[in-house]
Amino acid sequence: MTDGQPRAITGHTELLGLIAYPIRHSMSPRMHNLALAKLDLDYAYLAFEVDSDALAESVAGLRALRVRGWNVSMPNKIAIIPLLDHLSPAAELVGACNTVVNDNGVLTGHVTDGTGYMTALRESGVDPAGKRITLIGAGGAGTAIAIQAALDGVAEIDIYNRRDAVWSIGESTVEKIRTHTNARATLRELDDVDAFRESVAGSVVLANATNVGMGKLVGVSPLPALDVLRPDLFVSDVVYSPARTLFLEQAEAAGCATMNGFGMMLHQGAAAFELWTGQPMPVDYVRAHLF
Ligand code: NAD
Repeated sequence: MTDGQPRAITGHTELLGLIAYPIRHSMSPRMHNLALAKLDLDYAYLAFEVDSDALAESVAGLRALRVRGWNVSMPNKIAIIPLLDHLSPAAELVGACNTVVNDNGVLTGHVTDGTGYMTALRESGVDPAGKRITLIGAGGAGTAIAIQAALDGVAEIDIYNRRDAVWSIGESTVEKIRTHTNARATLRELDDVDAFRESVAGSVVLANATNVGMGKLVGVSPLPALDVLRPDLFVSDVVYSPARTLFLEQAEAAGCATMNGFGMMLHQGAAAFELWTGQPMPVDYVRAHLF
């Protein structure tokens, strides 16, 4: 460890990065560069605005330049899959990739969003292995969480979503969990309040994996019924900006312990960092210095 001053960039410095659009708001460059400087590792991490139309060309360039690795965010998480040589078992199952490792031109795709969420949950003192969880949201974040929860031994995953374009992704996630893991998974409509009450009553965790509560939906909660909240229920949100969504405020008012999406973001980054550098990210240091 060092005092955290970044190394001077030289001819030996290796590149890491992030390809997404839009991306200038991302915390990842600051997070990774803080960790690299703390460990005195000779890499620099940059954000590149890459939209779908420039994805194939960008990946070919990153491969040819032997860029050691990069994160992938929207709109590229699914579209990048055919451009890669190998996939981790979790990325294969989720059907998306947020981290690429480049071993001398051979590209392996990983997905660390689900492990990031599960690590953050355990860090908060909650291990749902062998138990039941209720998950609102079957999109990208929801799929990664549901599949990793199943791989980590969660017994039952009750997923709720609106009947929108994401519904069929939820159906496919339930089928993947059924055929590839020992977990039981169901998908139901978010406005099926009786089923939702029954699910949450049997669950140790209630998780929001939708974007409800951020952006244009700040001040909106995805919760279809407030009376499901009870003090021994752990409630989490994937959203971290704002740090306290209305959903988490409702849970706190009912006496629930809560977790926002910051821990998931930190630990998905930590998992990627270790894949590229072989070193664990100094997460406590990064957490203390990121803001
Ligand atoms: P997505 O577009 O794939 O899915 C969006 C989800 O929100 C779907 O389930 C959709 O049905 C639901 N939804 C949208 N509007 C709704 C409404 N009005 N009522 C009920 N449900 C509604 O998006 P995604 O990639 O899964 O991202 C979801 C959220 O997760 C975003 O806020 C994103 O920033 C966050 N996220 C956080 C992390 C992290 O590390 N903390 C990682 C990935 C994503």
